[in-house]
Amino acid sequence: MKDIKSMFLPELEEEMKNLNQPRFRAGQIFAWLHKTYVTSFSEMTNIPKALQEKLSKEYTFPVLRIERVQESALDGTRKYLFALGDGNLIESVFMRYHHGNSVCVSTQVGCRMGCRFCASTIDGLVRSLEPSEILEQVYRIEKDTGETVSNLVLMGSGEPLDNYENVIRFIRLISDENGKNMSRRNITLSTCGLTDRIRALAKEDLPITLALSLHASDNETRKALMPIANRYSLDEVLAACDDYFKMTGRRVSYEYSVVRGVNDTKDAADRLGKLLKGKNAHVNLIPVNKVEERSFERPDAVTVQAFQNELEKFGINATIRREMGSDIDGACGQLRRRHLKESDSMTKGETTV
Ligand code: SAH
Repeated sequence: MKDIKSMFLPELEEEMKNLNQPRFRAGQIFAWLHKTYVTSFSEMTNIPKALQEKLSKEYTFPVLRIERVQESALDGTRKYLFALGDGNLIESVFMRYHHGNSVCVSTQVGCRMGCRFCASTIDGLVRSLEPSEILEQVYRIEKDTGETVSNLVLMGSGEPLDNYENVIRFIRLISDENGKNMSRRNITLSTCGLTDRIRALAKEDLPITLALSLHASDNETRKALMPIANRYSLDEVLAACDDYFKMTGRRVSYEYSVVRGVNDTKDAADRLGKLLKGKNAHVNLIPVNKVEERSFERPDAVTVQAFQNELEKFGINATIRREMGSDIDGACGQLRRRHLKESDSMTKGETTV
């Protein structure tokens, strides 16, 4: 069975041609999938019954099931745990900002990048998501909330550039004018720094924002936090980001998770300032979220503030990430882990508290 929701409109037109159907059927089906977000072929009411049946025999499309939702009493942030068709679980987050609603999507079940402070990578990579499964996170959330999502960050579980083809297809589909038509300028892709893929992304002609997870201003510290730093040096990954800016004109964001006693010193801030000085850069300081299985702690607010001030001396625009939904499982991957642990202990006959 072919996944009809991961197809571009011209591909769908080709399929209709092979089924001896008029070309406009493709447009109708595309709209049902990407504008109305139907969950079955039988809801496609302007498609003749016989064709609906034929389609359901040859094609399929995933519909994510909401397994759990946590809503923050503080700011209305909603964290979704979705079940995929094969039973795997993924997380997505819905956030309300003054500039519009934003969703953070996962691109893989688990992750194989191994960043030391991250919950998503603890059990490694299970599998990559299909384009349709990434789309579904946004579509289901729009249906569930009844609100429009105008901004998107690829910052959930998984490394987007490790699922390159599907992620690019997802971005093209969600910004297709015949579908949801999300502005590409409102999309941010975050990577731990797969440098060759950053270079490939720059050539895709997609005006999205690139965010690099930097987290250190020297190679040794970066290696201690992120295994990917053994493959690409800071110089290499930063050069790729510079080229990304040159080719796309899009300002690059640098994420820096501040970890107490690891990368939070004045020296570290100075080095970061020197590395990024003169670039059209924005630094996002993220006090590290505590992950149960990890020992990393966030510095106190004064230290984070001092780090920001130090960067500003170099003329670097830096913001401290406002924590959304701090009363619900914070760091990426934690809701899924907790849920898995709970169902595991339940099947073992233990009680959960
Ligand atoms: N794989 C991609 C995107 C997913 S993570 C990447 O590495 O960029 C999104 C951001 O959250 C990354 O900057 C990641 O390093 C950061 N992050 C992960 N776990 C975190 C934690 N416990 N505390 C703070 N930031 C974290």
